[in-house]
Amino acid sequence: MGIKKVGLNRNVKPQTLTEKLFFLDFMKGLKTTIKHLFRRVVTVDFPYEVTIPAIRFRGVHGLRNVDGTEPPDFDSWIKKLKIKPPEKGETRCIACKFCQAACPVPELFTIKAEKLKVPEDHPHHGLKVLAVFDMDLSKCMFCGLCTQACPTDCIIHTDVYDLSSYTRRSWVLHKEDLSRIADDFIARRGKEKFDDHSKWRKDQKIWPEYDYPRTKIWEGWMPSFLPNYKKSQSNGEAEN
Ligand code: SF4
Ligand code: SF4
Repeated sequence: MGIKKVGLNRNVKPQTLTEKLFFLDFMKGLKTTIKHLFRRVVTVDFPYEVTIPAIRFRGVHGLRNVDGTEPPDFDSWIKKLKIKPPEKGETRCIACKFCQAACPVPELFTIKAEKLKVPEDHPHHGLKVLAVFDMDLSKCMFCGLCTQACPTDCIIHTDVYDLSSYTRRSWVLHKEDLSRIADDFIARRGKEKFDDHSKWRKDQKIWPEYDYPRTKIWEGWMPSFLPNYKKSQSNGEAEN
C-alpha cells in the first residue's frame, strides 16, 4: 500500500532546478531580513531605556486634585453627596463610586467615605470625606471606562506603564499614590492632554466622537449585522 500525501497545495508550482541550485527562496527571505537591518529600530532596551507613550495611552491611573478647573457641576455633586467642599490641592473624588459601577471588574476598587467627627455646631457637621480609595491594578484591563464615568474628571489614565514588582501587594495603589501619579502626569504632560478648562482636548479623548460605531453602541443602537435583532425590534418581539 502506497503512502497517500495529504494537505499539499496542488496549485503551488514545484521549485525549478535553478531555484534549487541557487537557494532562490532562501535569498528572497534574506533580502527581507537585510532590508530590516537598516530600518529605524522601534524597540527599546527596557528597563535601561524607556519610551514616552502617546498621550491617549491608557496607563496607570491617577486621581486629580482640586485645581480650579473642575467641571461646572462639581459643586452640585458635592452638595448632593454631602461631601466636605475640598480645598485647593485636595482630592476631587466625591466617593460616588460611578467608576466602580462602570468597571467590568468592580472588585478591584475599594472606595469608602466617612463622616467627619466634628461638633454639631461645626459647619462641616454631617459631611463626609473620602477615607479610602484603593485600586488593585493587577485586575485592571485598562479599558478606560472608569475615566468616562467620573462626573468630576477625577480619575484619569496617565502615561505610566511600569507596574513590575516582586509582590502583588504593590499593585494595589492607595489614594495618596494615585494623587501623586496624577499630579506628576499633569505637571509633565497636562498641556498635551487637557485644554484650558481641564477638559480632554478633542483629539486626545480616549473614545473620540468620530468613532461612530462605538458612539452608537453607547446610545443603545445595535449594529446592522444583527438582522434578527432589527426584525424583532420592528415586530416588538423580545428575541435574543
Ligand atoms: S480601566 Fe477598566 S478595568 Fe481598569 S479600573 Fe478602569 S474600568 Fe476597571
Ligand atoms: S467616579 Fe470619580 S469621583 Fe466618583 S468615586 Fe470614582 S474617581 Fe471618585
